[in-house]
Amino acid sequence: MHGVIADDLLEQAQARLKSLFGFDNFRGRQPEVIRRVLSGQSTLAVMPTGAGKSLTYQLPAHMLAGTCVVVSPLIALMHDQLRSARANGIRAATLTSVDEDWRETQEAFRAGALDLLYVAPERASQPQFRELLSCTPLALFAVDEAHCVSEWGHDFRPDYRLLRPLMDAFPDVPRLALTATADAHTRADIIAQLGIPDDGVIIAGFDRPNIRYVIRHRDSAARQVAQLMADNPGPGIVYVPTRRKAEALAQQIGASTGRPVLPYHAGLPPEERAANQAAFVASEDMVICATIAFGMGIDKPDVRFVAHAGIPKSIEAYYQETGRAGRDGDPATAVMLWGAGDFAQARQRLGELPEGRRAGERTRLDALAVLVETPGCRRAILLRHFGENPPETCGNCDHCLNAPTVTDASEVARKVLSAVYRTGQSYGFGHIQKVLTGQSDERVLQRGHDRLSVFGIVSAEEAPLLQLLSRTLQARGALVSTDHGGLALGDNARAILKGEKTVEIVLPPPRERRRPRGSSVSNPLGDPLFDSLRDLRRSLAAEAQMPPYVIFHDATLREMAALRPQSLDQLATVGGVGAKKLEAYGDAFLAVIRQH
Ligand code: ADP
Ligand code: ZN
Repeated sequence: MHGVIADDLLEQAQARLKSLFGFDNFRGRQPEVIRRVLSGQSTLAVMPTGAGKSLTYQLPAHMLAGTCVVVSPLIALMHDQLRSARANGIRAATLTSVDEDWRETQEAFRAGALDLLYVAPERASQPQFRELLSCTPLALFAVDEAHCVSEWGHDFRPDYRLLRPLMDAFPDVPRLALTATADAHTRADIIAQLGIPDDGVIIAGFDRPNIRYVIRHRDSAARQVAQLMADNPGPGIVYVPTRRKAEALAQQIGASTGRPVLPYHAGLPPEERAANQAAFVASEDMVICATIAFGMGIDKPDVRFVAHAGIPKSIEAYYQETGRAGRDGDPATAVMLWGAGDFAQARQRLGELPEGRRAGERTRLDALAVLVETPGCRRAILLRHFGENPPETCGNCDHCLNAPTVTDASEVARKVLSAVYRTGQSYGFGHIQKVLTGQSDERVLQRGHDRLSVFGIVSAEEAPLLQLLSRTLQARGALVSTDHGGLALGDNARAILKGEKTVEIVLPPPRERRRPRGSSVSNPLGDPLFDSLRDLRRSLAAEAQMPPYVIFHDATLREMAALRPQSLDQLATVGGVGAKKLEAYGDAFLAVIRQH
C-alpha cells in the first residue's frame, strides 16, 4: 500500500488510541508495527514484556473491516486479554475448551460482529476451524508468543507448525507474529515458519527502564524479603528453588509481615494452584512464593517486585522472570539474593550432566557470576548479554544508584586457595577460615593444620574479606563443593593461584535510605485521594469479578488524583480513560473526587 495512505491510517490510529484506550501517545515501536499491519504487510514484532504488544493488533482489529484471529498458547492468557479488550469496548471472544458460549461466538463471528477471535493453536489447525474462517472476511492473523513455533525457542509447541497451512489458505490476510524473547536464530526460524518477509522484522530494545535491578548477598531470605515487602506494598513474586522452600518461605514471610502470601509450585493439587494464581492476579498486595513453574501466562501488569531467593538458571531465565515486574510502566524492583552455595551446588551439578551439555551450562553459570559480581552497572551487563550496546551506567540499578567500593583481594584469594589445597580439599569454609586466621581449635590441632605454612597467614585487616572471598571464589568456580559439603579447587583456581587473574571484590554497600512513611511506589505523594480512588476501584472490581487493573491502572488513578477533574470531559483527558470506561465508571470516580 502507498506510504501516504499508510500515514493517513496511522493518523486515524492515533485518534483511535485515545478514544479506545485513553492513551495519548504510542509507545516505542508500536506505530511502526501498526503502520505495517494497517497497510496489509506481514510482520514479526520482537518487543519486551510490557512494551504493549497486544495493542498492535487490538487497535488495527478495531479499525479494519473483518475479524482478527489471535492465536495464543494459554487459556489463561486469552481470558486475560479478553477481559481487557472488552473493558475497552473491543468486540472480542475466545474459543477454548472451557468456554460455554461457543454457539454465540460462532454466530457473532459469522455475522462479522467480532473484532478479535482468540484461539489456541490446537484448535486453529483443525479443519472445522478453517471452514469457520472462510465464512467471514478476516483482517489479520496475530500469532502471540510466536517463539513457540521454533524448536530453538524454549517453549516449542508443535501445533504452532500447523498454523502456516491455515494462514496460507488465506493468502490476502496479513500476519503479525509477536514475541518478547527471540535471539537471531529463533527470529529466522519464526519468519521462515510463519511466512513473514525478511524486511518485516521489527525489534524493539530489550531494556525495561522502569525495573530497578538489585543484587545482594543472602543472609536471611525471610528477613530480606520481608524488608523488600515493607518497601513495596504492591503485589510481588518471590522465586524459590524448591517446592519445600516455596511452602516454608510463604509461611515465614506471611507470619512476619501480616501480608497475604501464598505458595505456588507443581506439587500443589491443580485446583489449589489455579486458585492461588487467580487470587494473586486479582490482588493488589499479595505476594506469591513460587518455583519457576509460575509465570508463563501471568499478564498481571501491576507486579511491583520480583525477588529471587537463590540464583536463577541463567541470565535469560532471570530476564524473563524479572520481566514480569512493572508491565504497567510504573517503577518496579527486581532483587536477587544469592549465596555462595548456590553457585557451588550448581557447578557441582554440572558433573552430573551429559558430557555434551556441560560446556554450555558452565558458560551460563559464568555469565551469571559476572552479573552477580560486577562492581559496574547491572543493566549494562544484561543488555550486552542480549547483543545490545547500552550506556555504561543506567541510573536505575543498585550500583549506579550507590557506587560500590571495590578492592583488589587477589593476594588474600591466593591464600584461601592455598589453604584449601593444603588441607586436602575436603573441609568447609569455617575450618579454612580458622586455619588462615590462626585459630587452633581441637580439629585444627588434631589434623595438624596448625603446622601448615598457611596457618595464620591472614592478617587481622585481611580477615573481614574472607567471607566475601569465599562467595566470590565460589561464584567464579575457583572453589567448588565436594560431595561431603567441603570445598575443593575448581577449574578456575589455577589462573588465580598463578597470578594470571586478579580477584576484585565488591564491598557491601551501606544501608539505603528508607522511604518516608505513608508513601509507596504507586502513591509516592501519599495522597489520600489516590487511596480513595483505589478503594472505589477495588469495590468496582469485586462487583464485576475482575482484577482491579482491568478497570484502571495505578498511573491513571494517580493522574486523576493530581488533576482532580470535575467533569466527564475533563476526566476523559486522563491517560487510560477511553470512551467505554468513561461511560462505565466516569460518574463513580467523579463522585469520589468531588467528595475530597
Ligand atoms: P506486552 O504484551 O508487550 O507485555 P501488553 O500488551 O500487556 O504488553 O501491555 C502492557 C501494558 O501497557 C498494558 O497494560 C497496556 O494497557 C499498556 N500500554 C500499551 N500501549 C500503551 C500506550 N501507548 N500508552 C500507555 N500504555 C500502554
Ligand atoms: Zn545501572
